[in-house]
Amino acid sequence: MSHQTSRRHFLRGGFNRPAVMRPLGALAPMTFEDTCTKCGDCARACPEGIIFRDDEGFPVVNLRRGECTFCNACVEACEPAALVAGTTWDWRAGATDQCLSKTGVQCRTCEDHCDARAIRFKLLVGGRSEPVFDRDACTGCGACAAPCPVNAIHFTHISQPQEDSTC
Ligand code: SF4
Ligand code: SF4
Ligand code: SF4
Repeated sequence: MSHQTSRRHFLRGGFNRPAVMRPLGALAPMTFEDTCTKCGDCARACPEGIIFRDDEGFPVVNLRRGECTFCNACVEACEPAALVAGTTWDWRAGATDQCLSKTGVQCRTCEDHCDARAIRFKLLVGGRSEPVFDRDACTGCGACAAPCPVNAIHFTHISQPQEDSTC
């Protein structure tokens, strides 16, 4: 890690920041921010239109805007190699308390959109039910997120099980 990197991340609290959902294949956070030139090529290459700029101009994925198909177009478009092939996608879906089913309103939209069949519903008292996400089956694709009528799907990085993404 360079002195410049170390100082920047110290000043920004980088060592304790919640994980940010970078595009597929992103290098480790500090290395990524040193390598990415903020050119925007990954965003232009994404056929799903789910890559945006964060406040600093770095690319960030928003799965509430659509699904990642793991097509690799963003990786292939990244000339500085801030995105590299063969890296796992370590995000998993969950539901916040905004979920309609948790409040007693019938909804199975997320389950209907999950090809991996990673979502099941657990019955609760009072006619409520709770979506339960199988973290082994979930691919983190985000197909469940955009269709959710109340934006209740959130994503967690497997290395930070208590931290939500900005997505
Ligand atoms: S893998 Fe494909 S769909 Fe996913 S963010 Fe990259 S370009 Fe978009
Ligand atoms: S689609 Fe959203 S509101 Fe509906 S059950 Fe899933 S998380 Fe809950
Ligand atoms: S992120 Fe994809 S695999 Fe995971 S629960 Fe949602 S639709 Fe299913």
